[in-house]
Amino acid sequence: MKVLKFGGTSVGSAERIQNLTRIIPTTTPCVVVLSAMAGVTNNLEKCISYAKETKLNEAKGMLQLVEQMHLETCNNLFSTSKYKMRGKEYVKKMFGDMYLKLDGFSARPAKEILAMGESLSTQFLHLYFTEQGVNTALIPALQFMRVDKDGEPDYLYITENLSRILDTCTGINVIITQGFVCKDTKGEIDNLKRGGSDFTAAIIGNAINASEVQIWTDIDGFHNNDPRFVENTLPIRDLSFDEAAELAYFGAKILHPSTIHPCREKDIPVILKNMLRPSDIGTTITSTHKHGGIKAIAAKDGITAIRIKSLRMLMAYGFLKKIFDVFNENETPVDLITTSEVAVTLTIDNTENLTSITKALGEFSSVEIVQNQTIICVVGDFLAENPGMASKVFNSLNDTPISLISYGGSLHNITLLVNKDSKIQALRALQNIVSVPEPANH
Ligand code: ASP
Ligand code: MG
Repeated sequence: MKVLKFGGTSVGSAERIQNLTRIIPTTTPCVVVLSAMAGVTNNLEKCISYAKETKLNEAKGMLQLVEQMHLETCNNLFSTSKYKMRGKEYVKKMFGDMYLKLDGFSARPAKEILAMGESLSTQFLHLYFTEQGVNTALIPALQFMRVDKDGEPDYLYITENLSRILDTCTGINVIITQGFVCKDTKGEIDNLKRGGSDFTAAIIGNAINASEVQIWTDIDGFHNNDPRFVENTLPIRDLSFDEAAELAYFGAKILHPSTIHPCREKDIPVILKNMLRPSDIGTTITSTHKHGGIKAIAAKDGITAIRIKSLRMLMAYGFLKKIFDVFNENETPVDLITTSEVAVTLTIDNTENLTSITKALGEFSSVEIVQNQTIICVVGDFLAENPGMASKVFNSLNDTPISLISYGGSLHNITLLVNKDSKIQALRALQNIVSVPEPANH
């Protein structure tokens, strides 16, 4: 069984939803995971922040905007008045409940409001298929998707409940469910964090031992550089799980980084496809590592570097532990790290607890904070038996000031830190050394 996930732009209009019925195979069984229509989760987040500031009129206004958009989609999506009505009734019911929840607002309905977008998009696709005479099942993600106390998927619960539900769907090939939403350990509505529908697809893939997980967006797979800043980027046809994880984590927007782990665990290929050009083969991510020089570049903004220096570190043990304890206690993940004998520089992207981190580090070292940094991740074959690769990277960056280099952590990438202002220059310079991907041949 395959899992197919369609993101916000793939369900972003009536026409796009109609288009899905041409892409989704109806003769073999598959699970279809949908995001909310493009922009909806952002607007629901805005509604929630208004509600938290007790700006109830603004919050209602925002909900009205989202409601209107869905009502208009009903008009254009369905061709018969019966289905237009069924769609609109569903929308009105959902929003009616939410307007009520805004009064007396507390943290709990926030997650319920945020979960609405996926309920609406999946209901639309289900109704549209039904109007077209295709038998589909809509299974609520809240009946099987659950995270544990650490926010990690509870695979036992998910596998058990999902397979029980799927057993009731025999004879139905298209099984539709919501991405992003889940329950927490208390059974309350939660979510897998922004962009989490890809993760949903991967978790389902893992739970049902899918033959593949397809992620459909509006670009033909992972490009070898960031197409927003660099011209003539090309899609890469094959990546290993490791390479894709680095690219996804360090900025390539096409795939949520959490998607890789559940699929790698069961060796399930992840295929990135373009719904605007379904015939394109896209990018296939598997456990196979294909050699190919410098394969791809990605960049991640909003990085803070922390420079920690202490003479006490000289020939002392336990110093790094002390540093990492601080980040551990402040629940802040560290991305890059380089060390010298008396200094350590590391980077974080979550600065929520920066003040407390700085204070704690300051008790045993001097600390310098450098903001507005960008990580540049260069993925390629940086194996020891493949000399000359690193020099290629640094030669091309002759004119770019580099403030940190991380090399040797994996055999698949070199990661650098530059000032945000140097990002575009660096990406363009690196494009000169990136390999031309193999043409589509499978
Ligand atoms: N709708 C959610 C979001 O916008 C989940 C997703 O799109 O993957 O973050
Ligand atoms: Mg997405």
